[in-house]
Amino acid sequence: MVRTLCGSCMEETCLLKEQGSISFNLKGEAYSVEGPLHRCEHCGEIIVDEFYEDLRHQAYEKYRADKGLVSAAEMKKIRTSYGNMSQVLFAKALGVGAATIARYELGYIPSKAYSDLIKRCQDPAFFEEVAEQQRAKMSPGDFRTIISAVRKRQEAVPAYWFPCTPVPIQTIFQKRRSFELDVLALIDNRARQYERDEIQKRPSLPPVTEGLLRFDSGKCA
Ligand SMILES: [Zn+2]
Repeated sequence: MVRTLCGSCMEETCLLKEQGSISFNLKGEAYSVEGPLHRCEHCGEIIVDEFYEDLRHQAYEKYRADKGLVSAAEMKKIRTSYGNMSQVLFAKALGVGAATIARYELGYIPSKAYSDLIKRCQDPAFFEEVAEQQRAKMSPGDFRTIISAVRKRQEAVPAYWFPCTPVPIQTIFQKRRSFELDVLALIDNRARQYERDEIQKRPSLPPVTEGLLRFDSGKCA
């Protein structure tokens, strides 16, 4: 049996495993989560260990989902969609500390502003703009790596179009002048398909002449 020192009573204790719930106070609101945890055999307090950390992570993710903040998993997905970019380089592109990115991916709660910034970075064109603003603060090599990852993402773009946030197709064409004709055709087809589906779902919807596309990096795989 594993023994540990209890942080509450400072006695050596064996770990009593049980299924329980913990309520975490996150910015003034209580978030309850359930799962396995360890208690001290002497004072009955919950031991702060990997089980506790896991429950805390769940509570943080609940809070993030509740408040519409980017989740830890989403964040990682956005970052790694750029050529499996490292946290350090992603942080440089955004002009934030690498420790900040690491913390958010570990589950710590980002501010709404950070969350919105990261969410918008799903869009390679936006991510490129942000990186461009930070260019002077990084080495030319780092900047090249970022831009090449952005280009690769843009080339792979048809795989990333899924229903989520509507974007007028004209905006997409204006933003991405570098698209090859077959890519444009593919996007156009998907837009038409989407338009048809939407009209079928809601017959009262007027025909969307310019077409709509939706993007959701959460579904990139
Ligand atoms: Zn104890």
